[in-house]
Amino acid sequence: MEYNHILVRFGELTTKGKNRKTFIQKLFQNTKEALLRFEHLTYELTYDRLYILLNGEDQKEVTEALKHVFGILSFSLAIKVPTELEAIKEAASFLVEKTEGQTFKIDTKRNDKNFPMTSPEISRSVAGYIFHHTQKDLSVDVHHPDIRIRIELRQKDSYVMNDVIHGAGGYPVGIGGKALLMLSGGIDSPVAGYLTMKRGVEIECIHFASPPYTSDRAREKVLELVGKLNAYQPTIRVHVIPFTDLQLAIYEHTPESYAMTVMRRMMYRIAQRVAEQENCLAISNGESIGQVASQTLDSMKAINCVIDMPVIRPVVCMDKIEIMELARQIGTYDISIRPYEDCCTIFTPKQPATKPRREKCETYEQGWDFNQMVEDCVAARETLIIGLDAVDENADLF
Ligand code: ATP
Ligand code: MG
Repeated sequence: MEYNHILVRFGELTTKGKNRKTFIQKLFQNTKEALLRFEHLTYELTYDRLYILLNGEDQKEVTEALKHVFGILSFSLAIKVPTELEAIKEAASFLVEKTEGQTFKIDTKRNDKNFPMTSPEISRSVAGYIFHHTQKDLSVDVHHPDIRIRIELRQKDSYVMNDVIHGAGGYPVGIGGKALLMLSGGIDSPVAGYLTMKRGVEIECIHFASPPYTSDRAREKVLELVGKLNAYQPTIRVHVIPFTDLQLAIYEHTPESYAMTVMRRMMYRIAQRVAEQENCLAISNGESIGQVASQTLDSMKAINCVIDMPVIRPVVCMDKIEIMELARQIGTYDISIRPYEDCCTIFTPKQPATKPRREKCETYEQGWDFNQMVEDCVAARETLIIGLDAVDENADLF
């Protein structure tokens, strides 16, 4: 006997009617995409559950991939058996033998009310069978069992399963539209991307590169970070902006204390243009209040006003420690801490203004025609596709 099914429970389904249908359809589609490489899997979608039939695929690998699908509340590995007491007993007994622990509990949920026994009767009968057949020194503990066996009795087939595995939660990626994530090689922005996707918002990324001041290694690092985010969204587009000329012009026309602020205003302008062209409804980034000079509220105010698109900042009120913890969980931390030169770090002024004023920024920007350079950056962007569809994209080149 072996696990042959995974039973998937949907998350945060507070919405009803048509939204519910959209949620489930999107979740189904995203799940299939996340599991695409397991070609023998088949699926059964019911009103409130998704059943994945393993058909011999590796149970561990499939569950690992499933843990990254937003919109899934939890799932359980299950053995599907015909709705007959003998078959259910055998499956339950098998699971208890396989799972570590001394105490157990059987929970039965009876969806088929025609079955001739009640739920407690079934649980007792199955427990009796387990005691009779086990070599282990087992006892029942209804409050804190080491092993919890769940039986879901349905009309034709039933499911016998043990622990509930937590899913990623959140909403299915894509039901909330699309945002453009400003992705540096640092710790914060990949976490911001993860949290954005968790709310059901699909992402595209924008990265500002200033070669030769920033190296290919910095760029590779960013692409590797995107690779980690692919676990949650299998295909991610990345727009790399050639930022050198504009950045040099900023430093030529702006006093050092304001260079950082003006640079970020330019980044926002470019991001908004790209977002509009790519049908993104918002910009997302890794800003966090107080972390650095450019992230005081005064700074945010002086920067944000150059665009009129919503900017979401998922880590804005988090402590650095909390952000780092999340970065570790999603596997981006080790990549982010590798030393590299960011376009920000290279030109970092010694004493940036912590209370920059919008009017001053505007005065400095009046001295030169930055608009054309902003447009040039947008037009000269290089767009890469990372993840699932990347192979096809490259295939076109040959
Ligand atoms: P991170 O750890 O994400 O780099 P940070 O704390 O270093 O953030 P800043 O360098 O001030 O903060 O950048 C704030 C945000 O601006 C980043 O989180 C990111 O969203 C965006 N950003 C900074 N540099 C770049 C870049 N080179 N390309 C794209 N976005 C950037
Ligand atoms: Mg940074």
